[in-house]
Amino acid sequence: MKHVQHVAGEVGPTGGLRPAVSRPHTAFIGLGSNLADPVAQVSRAQEALDGLAQTRVVRCSSLYRSAPVGYLAQPDFINAVAQLETGLSPRALLDALLALELEQGRTREFCNAPRTLDLDILLYDDLIHHEHGLTIPHPQMHLRAFVLQPLLEIAPDSDIPGVGNAAAAAAQCRDQQLQRLV
Ligand code: ADP
Ligand code: MG
Repeated sequence: MKHVQHVAGEVGPTGGLRPAVSRPHTAFIGLGSNLADPVAQVSRAQEALDGLAQTRVVRCSSLYRSAPVGYLAQPDFINAVAQLETGLSPRALLDALLALELEQGRTREFCNAPRTLDLDILLYDDLIHHEHGLTIPHPQMHLRAFVLQPLLEIAPDSDIPGVGNAAAAAAQCRDQQLQRLV
């Protein structure tokens, strides 16, 4: 016979009772899109993050519009950062993010190509972590205004382990074009 276990829960955004996140970690996720209605893609992804197992979205930044980097002949990006509370390990979280990208039509033609959705793990607690296919903190985050400004909007005191204060890093990126959308 199957046992039904009653656990402490909370009402999720859709009204259902969801189990509370056990042994939560704090992770910051960078969201980006520049294809197929980017504002809708990023908004949909914010909701999808909240629906991941053992995970809830604590805070979301505003949306920002940024000019492409690397490969310039493509549309502007819409970016945001979300703060998660999660019981997932870094690897399980990355796998879940890559699955969400695929659900929203992500393909990988070449480096810095236009994309329907990009989800990057920026920070995971104060972890410094390198393994095949996963580097935390995200190795370029301290160089990108479109990551740093939304991060600082929701977590102004953020530190980037191994790099330093996120606000100081943002000060070095002032020349990058970024527009906060209302
Ligand atoms: P980018 O985000 O740099 O434009 P992609 O989204 O194509 O590039 O990601 C390529 C690979 O980067 C992913 O398959 C993933 O394995 C790897 N990766 C390494 N570290 C991270 C991280 N912190 N967050 C997300 N992906 C990462
Ligand atoms: Mg990515």
